[in-house]
Amino acid sequence: MAVPVGGLFALARRATRRRLRILCYHGFALEDEARFRPSLFISPNEFGQRMRHIARAGFPVISLNDAARLLEQDAIDEAPVVLTIDDGFYSTRAVAAPVLAEHGFPSTLYLTTYYVEKGGPILQLAIAYICWKSPLQSVNLSGLGLESAGFAGVVLLDGDKRSELAKELFVAVCETFDSEGRAAFVRRFAERMEVDYEALVASRKLSLLTPEEVAELEASGMVIELHTHRHVLPEGLDDGLREVLDNRASIAGMTGREARHFCYPSGIWSPTRFASLRLAGVKTATTCEAGLARHGADLLALPRILDDLARQPDRVRGRAFRNNRPLPRPGRRREAQGGIAQRLWQLGGRNRPAGAGSLKRYCPGKRGRGES
Ligand SMILES: [Zn+2]
Repeated sequence: MAVPVGGLFALARRATRRRLRILCYHGFALEDEARFRPSLFISPNEFGQRMRHIARAGFPVISLNDAARLLEQDAIDEAPVVLTIDDGFYSTRAVAAPVLAEHGFPSTLYLTTYYVEKGGPILQLAIAYICWKSPLQSVNLSGLGLESAGFAGVVLLDGDKRSELAKELFVAVCETFDSEGRAAFVRRFAERMEVDYEALVASRKLSLLTPEEVAELEASGMVIELHTHRHVLPEGLDDGLREVLDNRASIAGMTGREARHFCYPSGIWSPTRFASLRLAGVKTATTCEAGLARHGADLLALPRILDDLARQPDRVRGRAFRNNRPLPRPGRRREAQGGIAQRLWQLGGRNRPAGAGSLKRYCPGKRGRGES
């Protein structure tokens, strides 16, 4: 007997009512960012629709603090949702905060603080954006100061060449220039590529919040939590601890409060990193592993549901319920978990596998280039 798709969603929601859905967002598009990097920026329209759906469907939205307590007490019920936003793009304030306030939804912002203190566009994203945005079909790279790294002469800008060039340039820029030199290079490069860099800076679409804006958000109810200072969590105990403590001190300077919840930058996590988090007194840590959190899960490896425009909606909602693989334990490999998000994501009829690829592209991550 055929079961209506809507009925299946209701059944799945009831079956998973004792599991916690932690949703993950990053940036919100102010202009063309959702076309530039759909895995990182969601359009205001899409985000508004998601929040309206959560409100209409009656999923209780709870704070991360409450969720942690309920998980520990085995008291999760009614399929609650926690809303998390990573990084701290300016658009968090410009786009997301008003929508969340309209619904009265509590939320958590995992803030990486280096670029909050430094200001300006994130270097890696700025280079990638200029490569994507340029109207040119070819460019002469000579005279930009990277000849010694092999960047000279004319290169074509067709197909995948643009993103490849961006990745290679970012590495070379980090290895060649100091902080001031990097900023000067990006200006030269934008001019050469015929992209308006001043407009990019003024739009703040690739920039993070200012310390004053962070303080405003915290005062208005968005809770600011940890995401490391330089957007990397090294495996070594001392280096890992330093990242968390630098981040916490920076956040405390803006909010006056000691942040205790953490999100792994770039989604890169492992039990070998738990020690530095425990030493720092971190209560919970979220990953980019796809799944729902339940009682008994390790609070330092909580799964989430990444919601962005890069994940194609499932054409047939019911398809999400056809496989019967067991729920993953947090920490199992991502490849095995695509079906989990598909099977259990009932919030918007958009069933999609999660992954952290987009974050890795954005983040300096393992290479320690967060200071760039
Ligand atoms: Zn991040």
